[in-house]
Amino acid sequence: MTGFDGRNADLEQVLAEARLRYAQRRPRSAAHDREAQASMPGGNTRTVLHHGPFPLTFLRGEGARLWDADGLEYRDFLGEYTAGLYGHSNPVIAEAVEHALRDGIVLGGRNRHEGELAALIRARFPSCELIRFCNSGTEANLMAIGAARAFTGRDAVLVFDGAYHGGVLSFAGPSPVTAPYPFVSVPYNDAAGAVEAIEREAGRLAAVLVEPMMGSAGAIPGDPVFLAALRAATARHGVALIFDEVMTSRLSPGGLQGVLGIAPDLTSFGKYLGGGLSFGAFGGRRDILERFDPRRAGALAHAGTFNNNVLSMAAGAAGLSRVYTPERAADLNARGDRLRDALNAAGRATGVPVLATGIGSILGLHVQQGPVRRPADLTTPPAVRELLHLEMIERGFYFARRGFLSLSIETTDRDCADFAAAFREVLSDWGALLGSTS
Ligand code: PLP
Repeated sequence: MTGFDGRNADLEQVLAEARLRYAQRRPRSAAHDREAQASMPGGNTRTVLHHGPFPLTFLRGEGARLWDADGLEYRDFLGEYTAGLYGHSNPVIAEAVEHALRDGIVLGGRNRHEGELAALIRARFPSCELIRFCNSGTEANLMAIGAARAFTGRDAVLVFDGAYHGGVLSFAGPSPVTAPYPFVSVPYNDAAGAVEAIEREAGRLAAVLVEPMMGSAGAIPGDPVFLAALRAATARHGVALIFDEVMTSRLSPGGLQGVLGIAPDLTSFGKYLGGGLSFGAFGGRRDILERFDPRRAGALAHAGTFNNNVLSMAAGAAGLSRVYTPERAADLNARGDRLRDALNAAGRATGVPVLATGIGSILGLHVQQGPVRRPADLTTPPAVRELLHLEMIERGFYFARRGFLSLSIETTDRDCADFAAAFREVLSDWGALLGSTS
């Protein structure tokens, strides 16, 4: 049962048929799944990529398109959860990587790209007076938390219910996998509640860790008043405000902090800033980051074999300097805003309660009534998400089952119009099952 009122029986039947159709058209992806299951738990090494009946195996990508093992073509609306901002074959990125490869990898010393990339990020994010690189967004957040703890001499971290900040920093519920810091968790977008918690816990609070828009958790924008209240309360109590801009840094040339006019003490980065290769970085106030200056007595250590890996540094620098210009950022995010409007319009036109959320090129697609101010407000039944996902895949559009979309600079207006038309068709076909109000 899905908990989706009296129409569940039909929904289950339609779902069973959709799963069967999906499986029948994809015998090679099914074979890859079976092969992987022999060596990896559930055939999986990255939880978010698992979905039933089995995930697609991709063989190739070009521009904003993907081809699976069965030769089927998809328009890519997942954009590798925002890391794929440059698409699959950007010539500037490819050239930078090929050049770096020719010059030799794993050099074991400083390379000529890391200083350039750090300067490019600093120029876009003035709150980051100094930057350090690491390997992932998860690591960036762990290091930002560590920096805040060292700087403040306190140990606890305030986070928000349902937030996602990385593989060991997930707050959707208690998990033994979560890093064992003393966390205090409060509802997102509740300014008064968060300020009260900061004041109550100030004596032991090193940091407040927050995404200015919750990304993975549903593309839920932070209320500017809420975020400003966090800034004021943390400043009053000497608590470090960490903006996790791993996803949101793409939403303007200077990320969401640039749009909001809020300077956090620390910022974590990841995803596309490595040009599509593995990447993480954290930056912030000079007096906090200087603790890592190895010339200083008692400097904090921050190791990592691949912190400055030459491929990510070269690709990231090429991307930020020559591809994702401020004009390109404006263009991409305007396209995302138009797509969001079109998806919401499809809901209105078909009488299905659709909520396309997010900002700019990051979208959440929910089939429910609003408002959604925090993850607990997300009530779209899993069976509805599954049907929508399978039906859109059937029509050649790839995105995350949880309803997460991000655009790449290769996504065209035509792609977006086609996606919106296919979405509207699914709503028309299955409106009664998906929750039509008409
Ligand atoms: N922070 C946010 C907001 C994220 O969305 C993610 C990944 O999705 C991370 C951190 C973790 O980044 P990574 O997967 O590179 O460890």
